[in-house]
Amino acid sequence: MHKYWLRQSGIEGDYVPLHVSAADLETVLRALPKMGFVGANVTIPHKERALEIADSVSARAAEIGAANTLFFNEDGEITAYNTDGYGFITNIRTNAPTWNAVDAPALILGAGGAARAVISALLDAGSPHIYLGNRTRARAEYLAAQFGSQVQVIEWDAISDSIHDVGLIVNTTARGMNGQDDLILPFEQAKSDVIVNDLVYTPLQTGFLRDAERCGLTAIDGLGMLIYQGVPGFQKWFGGNPKVDNALREVLLR
Ligand code: NAP
Repeated sequence: MHKYWLRQSGIEGDYVPLHVSAADLETVLRALPKMGFVGANVTIPHKERALEIADSVSARAAEIGAANTLFFNEDGEITAYNTDGYGFITNIRTNAPTWNAVDAPALILGAGGAARAVISALLDAGSPHIYLGNRTRARAEYLAAQFGSQVQVIEWDAISDSIHDVGLIVNTTARGMNGQDDLILPFEQAKSDVIVNDLVYTPLQTGFLRDAERCGLTAIDGLGMLIYQGVPGFQKWFGGNPKVDNALREVLLR
């Protein structure tokens, strides 16, 4: 994705994967600016630790408790950002322009790192209420406690009960990823204008999204979130305005 944008923008640069052990993370991050790197993305299992290592942390990354995007200044100081929530909300708004977070509650399935970013973005966008269901209830309770009374934990076995009430349903669990069973919800009980989003993007078309489409609902896949979370990083590292279009999606799908 970043290589595509670099080519499109005519910028001489590169984006390379580096496999780093947890024990070496700080040493590597401190060395990268000295080697000419302008920043980095960090992913599991480094997202929380990167926040501790950073010299400064954006308010959003602090709220989410994890970083995914790092920027190095000329002195090698590290600023940590989290752009997952931005990627999530931009994907929804782009694919469902009439959706407005303030209009109806949301149903979030899963309580891992991705759910944290999604909830933070939804509350920021004015969501009046969030139902949160997770297989391990204690994890949902822990997450909800950090966000306050707008986030209501519901039983995993009873997630269907709130479906008629919501305007947005998001699967942030790993269910539906290649090799995992699909999540099944009674979408026929949902309002006709409900937006259904799956963060899983391998496969792109999960059974969860297929079921939603079959019921005539707007189904949004997870690739858009992955793409949009990369936009602020590219802008900070390289400048310019990276374009998100079908050609980019095609490149990524290939
Ligand atoms: P995580 O922190 O490990 O959390 C995993 C979540 O999935 C937990 O809520 C876990 O429930 C749930 N889960 C796993 N297997 C399950 C199963 N068989 N049945 C029910 N629940 C199950 O991972 P994460 O970072 O939040 O990522 C979650 C998913 O979002 C992944 O598929 C990831 O690829 C995707 N994601 C996509 C994007 C994007 O840009 N589109 C960005 C971030 C993440 P328990 O607490 O009960 O274990």
